[in-house]
Amino acid sequence: MCSKTKNSEALKVVVRCRPINRKEEGGGYDRIVAMDVKLGQVTIRNPRVNPGELPKTFTFDAVYDAGSKQTDLYDETVRPLIDSVLQGFNGTIIAYGQTGTGKTYTMQGFWAESDKKGVIPNSFDHIFTHISRSQNQQYLVRASYLEIYQEEIRDLLCKDQNKKLELKENPESGVYIKDLSSFVTKNVKEIEHVMNLGNQARSVACTNMNEHSSRSHTIFVITIECSELGVDGQEHIRVGKLNLVDLAGSERQSKTGVNGDRPKEASKINLSLSALGNVISALVDGRSTHIPYRDSKLTRLLQDSLGGNAKTIMVATLGPASHHYEETLSTLRFANRAKNIKNKPKINEDPKDTLLREFQEEIARLKAQLEKRGMLSKKRRRNSRRKKSVDGETIPDTETEEENDDNFIEKNIRSYLKEQAERLQQEKAAIQEDHSLLEEEKMKLIEEKERMMEDLTKEQKATEMLAVKFQAMESKLLIGGKNIIDHTNEQQKMLEIKRQEIAEQKRREREILQQMLVRDEETVELRGTYTSLQQEVEMKTKKLKKLYAKLQAVKGEIQDHHDEYVRVRQDLEQAQNEQTRELKYKYLIIENFIPPEEKNKIMNRLYYDAEEDQWKFQPLVLPGK
Ligand code: ADP
Ligand code: MG
Repeated sequence: MCSKTKNSEALKVVVRCRPINRKEEGGGYDRIVAMDVKLGQVTIRNPRVNPGELPKTFTFDAVYDAGSKQTDLYDETVRPLIDSVLQGFNGTIIAYGQTGTGKTYTMQGFWAESDKKGVIPNSFDHIFTHISRSQNQQYLVRASYLEIYQEEIRDLLCKDQNKKLELKENPESGVYIKDLSSFVTKNVKEIEHVMNLGNQARSVACTNMNEHSSRSHTIFVITIECSELGVDGQEHIRVGKLNLVDLAGSERQSKTGVNGDRPKEASKINLSLSALGNVISALVDGRSTHIPYRDSKLTRLLQDSLGGNAKTIMVATLGPASHHYEETLSTLRFANRAKNIKNKPKINEDPKDTLLREFQEEIARLKAQLEKRGMLSKKRRRNSRRKKSVDGETIPDTETEEENDDNFIEKNIRSYLKEQAERLQQEKAAIQEDHSLLEEEKMKLIEEKERMMEDLTKEQKATEMLAVKFQAMESKLLIGGKNIIDHTNEQQKMLEIKRQEIAEQKRREREILQQMLVRDEETVELRGTYTSLQQEVEMKTKKLKKLYAKLQAVKGEIQDHHDEYVRVRQDLEQAQNEQTRELKYKYLIIENFIPPEEKNKIMNRLYYDAEEDQWKFQPLVLPGK
């Protein structure tokens, strides 16, 4: 078993560059991004060549070039994170980058083509395959899907798409979304269905999907609860939550909307995205005592993932062509900063309110009721004891046995009813035959029997309902080899293992190469003795050149930072101007069209709720109360 706590662990940051597209090729744009996959490095050169300006190189945990496959990224980078979530860690994968660089391709990909499936569908397969191979564990998997658009949270799985959800916080479970719907899913098909529903809801609700998706953030949440008998003989529940985040495009919003009109948003600034940048800066600054999580919905929701107790991966996506030099560089800088975030991942063991515990209790209650009605066989009871055995020796029940078992309840209900009905029928007949009874008495008795028959039918209906509910709930608690079966054959399994080993090997090689590079530089600087003056001059000249290049790079960096700062400031100023204009407009209406006494009454009743970031009305106090 894994240790409960681990010391701090850096955010994993990988970069992926999509292939050049036809438009870019036709436009004659150069490729300005080069990748050293073995070393995990990206180099970007400024297309407007500036004499003396060197290409900029960044190092990441891994880089994926245009030729990389979806499974490369999954096996090397994502798989270990999902394994951790299955152990009870919280995990987050964030896709960050300019619109059109492959965030959605990376997260979702094309569902129909197996080699183009992205992180999300691959994680579905991974999770349910893991569960089907598990032993002596019970799993409950559920999914939610939400979107943040213009700082409002929308539940993509809720029928009422206009409902705005609120963020809440409690000391036990941290930040959560009130009333967010979630669906318990038994297999890949069901969870895929949930995802499709959400995607459909998203595309139906908006007129311009491209613009909408470039400005909204989506989060698909999978919660995996696992119950297992511990060495202490007690049952323990671990809960892992996985956030799959497809962020809004990181580009600065254009000054006008698609049709040339002013965008509806009050500001060009995507509050959640700029808050994300500020949180990351504050976290890696080292001097900041305040991390501004509360500045946006996104940062509040991802608080655990950024400097908290989750394991987090950021996938920064790039385009290769020269026309987006500034945006691409800015994405690389952002990713480079995020590398320095430290999290303290920890397994969530036995949290207070788990759905799995609720399910277990409800199932036990239903089972007791069915047993009381004589509807559960000894056979089933023996099965459930077997389920709980710890020695791992028991052979998992087969699917057919499970079916038989379920049929058994139905058969039991039917034969019970038949028996009882026959008995009543006989009794009725006996009454008819009984000549010692008066006609009136006979009628009364027969009526009574008929009433009993009716009751019996009602009771049977109720029992059937109970049985249906019991079976439905029980089927949702997944038990490897029992109600979730692994259908991969040995050959496929071997292939899988080999693929994972290769991925692991590649990862380790890269780590070693990166460490060697750092050490090389250190040794050059440490070596202080020279055999001749000539050699000393040579070495020192070399060193000087290297340092000079570094100096130039840092100077360039400072300039770029400055430029970016100026840009952001201009954006903020513009946002401020727009808000001031909006304010003046509202003032005009209030001052000219609302009677002053009404205005005063309203203003006296208003108060600010900091928790919900909203003005609210104090309840009216009626006179005489
Ligand atoms: P984003 O979500 O960042 O706006 P998309 O995922 O929609 O970008 O990608 C834009 C286009 O580029 C899509 O047509 C997508 O299929 C294609 N694309 C992106 N990344 C890749 C890749 N790694 N390989 C092949 N095609 C890609
Ligand atoms: Mg997208």
